[in-house]
Amino acid sequence: MIEKILNYEKYDISKLEKEIIDLKDARLLFIYLFVTKNNKEIIANKIFETKDFKYMHFLLRNFYVEVYDKILDYILKNNSDARYLYNILYDVDYLNNIWRIKIINKIISLNNDPYAVKALYYYFCVLKLYDAILFKKIQLLVKEKLGINVNKENYTLIFEKILFEKKKDPNGYSENCYIGHKNYIPNIIVCHINSTYNSAISHFYDSKSEVSSHYVIRKDGHIKQVVSLENSAWANGTSFRESSDAYYKFATSELINSVSENANYFTFSIEHESFDGSLTNEQIESSVKVIKEIIKYVKIKYNYDIPIDRKHIIGHNEVNPIVRKKCPGINFPYDEIIKRLKNKN
Ligand SMILES: [Zn+2]
Repeated sequence: MIEKILNYEKYDISKLEKEIIDLKDARLLFIYLFVTKNNKEIIANKIFETKDFKYMHFLLRNFYVEVYDKILDYILKNNSDARYLYNILYDVDYLNNIWRIKIINKIISLNNDPYAVKALYYYFCVLKLYDAILFKKIQLLVKEKLGINVNKENYTLIFEKILFEKKKDPNGYSENCYIGHKNYIPNIIVCHINSTYNSAISHFYDSKSEVSSHYVIRKDGHIKQVVSLENSAWANGTSFRESSDAYYKFATSELINSVSENANYFTFSIEHESFDGSLTNEQIESSVKVIKEIIKYVKIKYNYDIPIDRKHIIGHNEVNPIVRKKCPGINFPYDEIIKRLKNKN
């Protein structure tokens, strides 16, 4: 059915749509809408009827739909997973302020502090919004946990202290990787963001997480290499199975879309500490530095020149558009990085 959806132009679309609606499968409904953009409101309602949290999230993240109040109301009443709720807050760009505040209040009520802090930082410091009642809650939360008095002058600093605290890096490389690059010449550099350096590092060194990246770049430009360039990190996974949301044919990158293989084998990955893709000048400098290292490595090892262009320097969303829509985010400075890479000095 996925192949049929991807090639929908060859079929009678109203027949295909009816077939999918009859199956009442949230994933097929979402992928149908994602690919065809056809009858958005009807399909959105059908996805809502399945009450599948994962694809209700994917729907809201990708489309503005009229039923969004109904869906959010259902989610708030029936889902108590702080991480899920945080992702709704973070991913759904068109949320209105009332919904944002409702979601944050629910996250706070779940006593899951890391997500409460991230949600509040996102609201106050990334979106630069303000709400007096929510601010009182921050004051209580921080006072209770850390004994610090928060006010309007110091809240950004305090959040940054909590979220971006500098810790000692682990020694050596992570074991989360494949040895080698199979028989491929790795020639694509994939850019990522992770809200905090510390969470990225702890994830990438945790053997249970099954994720990693070649490099992680902190806000201050500090670079940590997690996986050797000899090996394949686990950041850009694609699957040759249709049943996976990371199916390689969903990729919008031409180079990824044409290879029926896990893209981890022929890509490199760089994580940046960021919420929305905007990087500090120090991070851009470091990113340019590690991309130059990658290019040099590939030239020496494979005698291949990775072209400096947007086909070969891409975002995670171009590899996995369904699962990673907001990585590395709309503010990611590809042009600036490419400009500095091309500048010989
Ligand atoms: Zn990513």
